[in-house]
Amino acid sequence: MDTTRRGFLASTVAASGAAVTPNLAHAVDEHAHDHQALPSDPALRVKSLESLLVEKGLVDPAALDAVVDTYEHKVGPRNGARVVARAWVDPPYKARLLADGRAALRELGFGSAQGEDTLVVENTPRVHNLVVCTLCSCYPWPVLGLPPVWYKSAPYRSRTVIDPKGVLAEFGVSLPSGTDIRIWDSTAETRFLVVPMRPAGTEGWGEEALAALVTRDSMVGTGLPKSPEPQKAEAGR
Ligand code: FE
Repeated sequence: MDTTRRGFLASTVAASGAAVTPNLAHAVDEHAHDHQALPSDPALRVKSLESLLVEKGLVDPAALDAVVDTYEHKVGPRNGARVVARAWVDPPYKARLLADGRAALRELGFGSAQGEDTLVVENTPRVHNLVVCTLCSCYPWPVLGLPPVWYKSAPYRSRTVIDPKGVLAEFGVSLPSGTDIRIWDSTAETRFLVVPMRPAGTEGWGEEALAALVTRDSMVGTGLPKSPEPQKAEAGR
């Protein structure tokens, strides 16, 4: 029995025929199924489509592997953390970021697929921003990598707009009373990145130390940056 990935793909095609997926870009994420004996139906459909494209010579398997490798290992929330840290230490950059996210992200080298139009929104003492894609799972890949499983889940997508405070509580986030929660519904055309508030006690810190405090969830709005510890404050100077 052929147990290689490509062998599996070929047998999947034979078993399932020419199934298609409505959005190939969303379907590259197949890392979350290690615990299952068989991939989920969408993953099978994607594998079928991939195999057909390869068989017909329309795509190069090495090119597909390079795309998957890029988003699994080279692109991720550390990119967004760099952006946030720069915004914290460089007010003119933050102003450009909020005015024209696409151009300001490109200044740091972040752009391309699944992030063409990324709007950047800033948390303040009065306003907390929370990002969702109610339709599916649109997400700013160049700065945050692939979306986490919970972001793609139906409960998160539906409940975030109905009960944002309840959702935030489940993520362990409680905001001062009177904070406005602003919901941003992503689309294929427009993605969102949250600039969380800079933690108190980080005055004088460098960008690298600051970036280490910026979590993925804090850039989606379901979390807050890490708090600085006294010894880190020393290291950050
Ligand atoms: Fe989506």
